[in-house]
Amino acid sequence: MTSSPTPVLLRYAGLEVPRYTSYPTAPRFTESIGDARYRGWLAALDTTAPLSLYLHIPWCRELCWYCGCHTSVARDMARVESYVDDLLAEIDLVAGAMPARMPVAHVHFGGGTPTLLSPDLFLCIMERLNARFDVAADAEIAVEGDPRTLTQPLVDALAAGGVTRVSLGVQELSARVQVAINRVQPLETVEAAVAMLRGAGIGALNIDLMYGLPHQSVTDVRATALAVSSLAPDRVSVFGYAHVPWFKKHQRVIDDAALPQLAERWAQAEAAAEVLTERGGLVEIGIDHFARAHDPLARLQREGRLKRNFQGYTADTASTLIGFGVSSIGALPSAFVQNAREIRPWREAIGERRLPVVRGVELTADDRLRAAVIERIMCDFAADVGAVCAAQGFAPETLDPEIGKLAPLVQDGLAVVEGRTVRVPQDARRLARVVAAGFDAYWQPSPAPRHSVAV
Ligand code: SF4
Repeated sequence: MTSSPTPVLLRYAGLEVPRYTSYPTAPRFTESIGDARYRGWLAALDTTAPLSLYLHIPWCRELCWYCGCHTSVARDMARVESYVDDLLAEIDLVAGAMPARMPVAHVHFGGGTPTLLSPDLFLCIMERLNARFDVAADAEIAVEGDPRTLTQPLVDALAAGGVTRVSLGVQELSARVQVAINRVQPLETVEAAVAMLRGAGIGALNIDLMYGLPHQSVTDVRATALAVSSLAPDRVSVFGYAHVPWFKKHQRVIDDAALPQLAERWAQAEAAAEVLTERGGLVEIGIDHFARAHDPLARLQREGRLKRNFQGYTADTASTLIGFGVSSIGALPSAFVQNAREIRPWREAIGERRLPVVRGVELTADDRLRAAVIERIMCDFAADVGAVCAAQGFAPETLDPEIGKLAPLVQDGLAVVEGRTVRVPQDARRLARVVAAGFDAYWQPSPAPRHSVAV
């Protein structure tokens, strides 16, 4: 059965807090990082440590009104083709700045809609990656897909290119909600996409769902989760819609009055979790993922080794993530870097043979320590803060002041503190972001909204 939050917990659900897919979070990036420093970090990479690669395809067939991604409508394929030309040049440029032909264990195509690429364009990118990097035979190659754009020739190309995992954006199956979010995609479209992928031997399937959408109800969420369970996905993510129309202008089309309020959002998240675990046979991973018990995400969670990166919870263990394409973010052992967010400066930099990184942050030892504590809270709902401090070379009492400041959260039932161990109780797990924020040296409640609400 779903549980209802106490009024005290519900008060925290409306807090705007980071999702902690990185720490420090992207708003902390500054323009002090560019081509020269990125080159220095790339040149110093350990040539034996496998990389993870992320490629951003910032094009979609049309815009979904809820979209929070960095994307544009591709009015004609010539623009996509020209983008891929520059992407190939960027791959050459970045690989050329590395000390050797580097091993790669994980490739992720995100967007936007990577499945908008033609079969030839997709294979062309894979060919270039294989030419420039030593992509492992057992590498995970994951692609985010829109079921409306999948065709048999494209699925065949994905399989030929070595794709092992596809994440299908489903979000919600109610026709009423689909109209309100401008993403009309009946269940049959999703079923056809799943059949094509499995028929081509692409075995690992993720499905992305959402709650908190306009006109969406608990009944809708349950029905969608049930229908999705019948497709037997390996992983499901369930994200809360982040209504940030001051940041994403197209979201202004969404009627504020049609949005579920906090208690309803909480109930929808709980309903999805209940159906996916009880009917779908999945285990809950962190705050918003679900996976089969044999899936690497579930195994890593059991072992206390789950990680978070810009895609959310991940089984990717690479210590370096290289981003390609506009707006993509890379994570190096000592820094985060971000490419230009607009196509023109990104393209100009590549044309001038400059790495198109324009922002980032170099990590201090304190950043790394806090990142480790925040990651454990987000992944395990518990952190032995003293042990994390010791493992990072700090005195165990280093973060005692932060633990002390959790007192109001302890009083309100969001956290339990035993010695230096901080735990998020079962009924407050949806609020883990609020507890994690207690260890964020930069975050403070802001009068100007910058983040999505906690639930
Ligand atoms: S398909 Fe995905 S990336 Fe494109 S507009 Fe819709 S939600 Fe955004």
